[in-house]
Amino acid sequence: MLEKIIRLDKEYYMNTFGDRLPVYFERGEGLKLFDDKGNAYYDFLGGIAVNSLGHGHKTFISALKAQLDKVIHTSSLYYIENQARLAQKIAENTCAERVFFANSGAEANEGAFKLAKIYHYKKGNERYEIISLDKSFHGRTLAAVAATGQEKYQKPYHPLTPGFKQVKPNDFDALLEAVTDKTAAIMIELIQGESGVYPMDKEYVEKLRALCDEKDIVLIFDEVQTGMGRTGRLFAHQLYGVEPDIFTSAKALGGGIPIGAVCACKKVCDAFEPGDHGTTFGGNPFATSAGLAVFDIYEKERLVENAEKIGAYFINVLNALKDKMADKIVEIRGAGLLIGIQIKDEIAKNVSARLFEDGFLVSLCGGNTIRIAPPLIINENDVDLFVNELKKVLEECYNERLN
Ligand SMILES: *Cc1c(COP(=O)(O)O)cnc(C)c1O
Repeated sequence: MLEKIIRLDKEYYMNTFGDRLPVYFERGEGLKLFDDKGNAYYDFLGGIAVNSLGHGHKTFISALKAQLDKVIHTSSLYYIENQARLAQKIAENTCAERVFFANSGAEANEGAFKLAKIYHYKKGNERYEIISLDKSFHGRTLAAVAATGQEKYQKPYHPLTPGFKQVKPNDFDALLEAVTDKTAAIMIELIQGESGVYPMDKEYVEKLRALCDEKDIVLIFDEVQTGMGRTGRLFAHQLYGVEPDIFTSAKALGGGIPIGAVCACKKVCDAFEPGDHGTTFGGNPFATSAGLAVFDIYEKERLVENAEKIGAYFINVLNALKDKMADKIVEIRGAGLLIGIQIKDEIAKNVSARLFEDGFLVSLCGGNTIRIAPPLIINENDVDLFVNELKKVLEECYNERLN
């Protein structure tokens, strides 16, 4: 069956993902995914920081089924109960005053760019520049690509959407130099996920906030990956104690059902007025029922607290392993359950391949960093299981290299 699926994929699917890992999953349960032969894989990537509830969560599925029985989609012409309630949930738990729903992270970021620009437009300011960071990732739509500070994503799409530029992360002077009287917004990830799990310094983020206040620049945090409990707080800006003017969410927000959100705090929350933005699918009754169920389950199972506790344990255990294997592990980075394990370049690829062969799902990012972003339901035993496996694989890969 796998061979047939691969054949169909090669023939009919656009080849944007190249050779994928040779597996497909038929079902999941908690931390585990099962392939067509019944082999179990431990999902330490959570569908790239999406499946925070794990797989096959009974309460979640019941909520989705209940909504399917009622209504799936009605359009934005009518009021939508779940949409209003999910916006309320986000607002009550963050600095956001108003929320707009999209269908993905990139689309949420597009909404954030538009909101920042229209905020200035309505004040009569001619400001259009948006500054972001090198090594960032903001999505694959054209403006999001223009904001994504990685050559490999931008190169084929020149000329890029104008007005975007990138500066070195964690370098306040570089940022100061890039700011002009045309700067509308600055967008950053508090922890850069896709490029290898690189956290921003607290001091840098605080200075950024002060600068944006002083110059009336809109500060945007892309929390598509760091949001929804991932870092041990509902959103990572709560970990930093710095409030943005806009933050975006997606990935874990729908527990696997596609949804994104543009969350606007005080300064900009009224800039969008009727007709200024819109969507067909965004925040429809089904997608927002998923978001509501995610919030519900987070509260009942205390998953944000669990992410903080297990994340701290995970990072501790990994640091202890690093101390023992300093010749193989370079650095452990991250917060909560978004963790990067930087491996010595020469074995990184083999380590990630071997983890997969042994039934552990992770992703290699930035060339040498193993990113883990497991479901927030994991416990200390799961962590021990992973770290023992990692230790074994590191030793094997290292020894093979020597031989
Ligand atoms: C994944 C991601 C995106 C893009 O989200 P999509 O849903 O794939 O469009 C944007 N920003 C960050 C930080 C991400 O991790």
